[in-house]
Amino acid sequence: APSGRAPLPVLGRDVTVPLVTGGEVTYAALDYAASAPALQRVWDDVAAYAPYYGSVHRGAGHLSQLSTELFENARRTVAGFLDCRDGDQVVFTRSTTDSLNLLATALPDDCRVFVFETEHHAALLPWGSPRAVGRGARVTLLDAPDSPERAVRTLEDALAARDPRHPALVCVTGASNVTGELWPVRELAAAAHAHGARIVLDAAQLAPHHAVSLRALDVDWVAFSGHKLYAPFGTGVLAGRADWLREAEPYLAGGGASRRVARREDGGVDVQWHDGAARHEAGSPNVIGAHAVASACEALTETGFDTLAAHEERLIRTVRDGLADVPEVRFLSLFGDDAPRVGVLSFVVDGWNGSHFAAALSAEYGIGVRDGLFCAHPLLRALLGGAPHHGGECGDPGTAPGGTSPHAVRVSFGAGTPDEHVERFVRAVR
Ligand code: PMP
Repeated sequence: APSGRAPLPVLGRDVTVPLVTGGEVTYAALDYAASAPALQRVWDDVAAYAPYYGSVHRGAGHLSQLSTELFENARRTVAGFLDCRDGDQVVFTRSTTDSLNLLATALPDDCRVFVFETEHHAALLPWGSPRAVGRGARVTLLDAPDSPERAVRTLEDALAARDPRHPALVCVTGASNVTGELWPVRELAAAAHAHGARIVLDAAQLAPHHAVSLRALDVDWVAFSGHKLYAPFGTGVLAGRADWLREAEPYLAGGGASRRVARREDGGVDVQWHDGAARHEAGSPNVIGAHAVASACEALTETGFDTLAAHEERLIRTVRDGLADVPEVRFLSLFGDDAPRVGVLSFVVDGWNGSHFAAALSAEYGIGVRDGLFCAHPLLRALLGGAPHHGGECGDPGTAPGGTSPHAVRVSFGAGTPDEHVERFVRAVR
């Protein structure tokens, strides 16, 4: 039975770590937003299958056929998990970063990409990559909004001001990896479509906590990472409309993506590429990874996102109520402290460097959190540095806003978090 009211058992529940003060304590993993521990069930499913695996889409042997079936079943499970529409495609990638980079290589010529400056770098940077820019892509960074309504208005204004002859893509997060706040995805999708643009949802932080329906949200694509969704590392997903993907050059050139290869008279090579998901899955597929992601999708669906959300809501309240009378602790948010969010909270502590604070939580209490700028430098600048950052730069500024390195601390949790871990965190901060 899961301990401390955690809805699902995860790996690492019994890991103990030494404390500088002497003795040892059970490790409190409170960095789910970076990588969630794998579900015990996912691990068991992988272990049960492992002795039988063979190469996918390649071998004639029985185990190869079994693996091919498992891989394609995993694709169907993920399609169901995301409530895909007829004709949508599920492509297995390595991660959210990989998925968004793949989509960036599939932009139509001269595409205009609109992205809020508040995005994770994985959603901010691919559109400026050499392959995208070489095809004429141009990125417009949108100012950090102070409310969900403002986000929609900002997007509408930017899309209305663009030259409608260019195709356009909007990239938006479902839940912030810094503030945990939920973004108005359905409204942003409606705004994008009303202006003839497409939209991709970065669901890296949303999918582990909320049901994501391509149909209901009416987004064109969604990307997420297995390792944040209680599966092990190495597998991600890009799901959505097939047309841009079908018309694009393969993300990687190689076996599996190619249907027919022939030597030309002049010594060159003629290639016919596949049309389906295989077009962007060159190389031997990661069947274990896909199976693990599918197993996690099934476990979350069976447990129910209402149950998971209620658990997280309670833990969020434990943190907020437990630290409400500590004036030195300031939580970070764009939309207000009470805005709906997933189990991700970042804060600064007056008089403390965030790195030292996080190190002390680890060394003295056995608590693992994250500190820093969370691969979202412009957002941190907007949250910590006063005036939001304006302008086109979306590279790595290298230093914290203001140059002083205040570094925020982030605590995040989910389906496997027992109450005791969060209660210990509150005690430690106090
Ligand atoms: N988007 C968001 C919102 C994230 O939190 C992360 C991971 N921190 C990513 C994208 C990138 O995910 P990955 O590192 O698995 O590619």
